[in-house]
Amino acid sequence: MKRHLIAFSVVSLMVICPLLGQSPDSPHRIALRAARLIDGKSDTPIMNAVVLIEGDKIASIASGSAAVIPPETTVIDLGDQTLLPGLIDSHTHLLSEMNGENLTLQDVEMLRIVATQSTAERALLGAKLGREDLEAGITTVRDLGNSGVNGDVALRKAINRGWLPGPRIIAATRALAAPGGQFGTLIPEAQKIIEQEYVTLNGPDSARQAVRQALYDGANCIKVIVNGSPADVTLDEMKAIVDEAHAYKAKVAAHAIGEHATRIAAEAGVDSIEHAYIVPDDVLKMMAQKHIFLVPTDGTEQTFIDMTFGVRRPSAEERAKVAAQMKPYIAGNQDRLRRARALGVPIAAGSDMYLTMPGKNRGQASLLMFEAYTAEGMSPQEIIRAATSNAAELLGLQDRLGTIEKGKLADIIAVPGNPLNDSTLLEHARFVMKGGAIIKNEK
Ligand SMILES: [Zn+2]
Repeated sequence: MKRHLIAFSVVSLMVICPLLGQSPDSPHRIALRAARLIDGKSDTPIMNAVVLIEGDKIASIASGSAAVIPPETTVIDLGDQTLLPGLIDSHTHLLSEMNGENLTLQDVEMLRIVATQSTAERALLGAKLGREDLEAGITTVRDLGNSGVNGDVALRKAINRGWLPGPRIIAATRALAAPGGQFGTLIPEAQKIIEQEYVTLNGPDSARQAVRQALYDGANCIKVIVNGSPADVTLDEMKAIVDEAHAYKAKVAAHAIGEHATRIAAEAGVDSIEHAYIVPDDVLKMMAQKHIFLVPTDGTEQTFIDMTFGVRRPSAEERAKVAAQMKPYIAGNQDRLRRARALGVPIAAGSDMYLTMPGKNRGQASLLMFEAYTAEGMSPQEIIRAATSNAAELLGLQDRLGTIEKGKLADIIAVPGNPLNDSTLLEHARFVMKGGAIIKNEK
């Protein structure tokens, strides 16, 4: 019986397949016209650009009269706007939202979230924040943990199935960490909470096992919190993580701050070091030599003041106090980004936005990172690359995303005016396309 059934189904498929092939739906064609195009790679923009999209891919790019638009193409004229590749945020936490007014009480805020919000609830928060990212022009994110037990994978699946709008997600599942995760010291009875958010390591074998478990759980990349309290993740554990992850083509992102943690991450050969607010020159040199990306999750003085006071208007005195507190931190970040760029460390943009910002949704708040990069001396062109082609390379998606090139996925945004003259224009995408589908087109 079984044999007959198999034979029958093979015959059926052979009959059906050619029939399906005979009447393929020709892909929907869209032509985008705009005053400028910045492709994410080259230094010079293309003027009077026309990008032809077929289905979910870019079919051609041309300038002015050289553009040939085939019949039955929907033409969208974006006027004096600039086309850019969809933005990529290499460091997000879409399933986490802390009260920004508790900037100094983040341990307690994290405990509150993990102890009171289920992963399901957090995935639904992620649906909201993901949509806000996408509408701001962030078409791809690398979501680096703090998403309960695999809530980021659930959100990624929901978006990929078309259940809800959101960016492409490279998910990390739970971050690997030294004992305690990022909670500080908890009493023995509360230890269970830690494993809800982190996978804690106990030697190289457990580190390998943690990577395998993350991949089994659906991770596309591995996140490690190298800094621990009181002890960091060890070099042996870190090497085991990188070895195991790279064996399965998964990249490793290391949260590392300070000489000890950044050195462990760089020596082990991770793919990116997140934050690195404090990092010595010789570690930066090692990063440049090994092509390890720095993801500078920086903010401006204004951002920190806005977060701290929420919608309340601070007095001049209160404002000055916070500004004075933040000054050495901001100056330190600026100095390390300047040194990193001078030493040739590749930079990928990452917001690490997880706090509420008054008057801004998650997408808008995330793009404030560009203002920090500008204040720190990066040019608009450098910032655009950090948030497009560089980030795509860090995520391992450079063959499909990160530039506007023939054959790549049509993740394209448009911003008013010329962002090469003013990088804050990148915060105001009026047109967003993801995989050939128009998400937003505001006149
Ligand atoms: Zn983070």
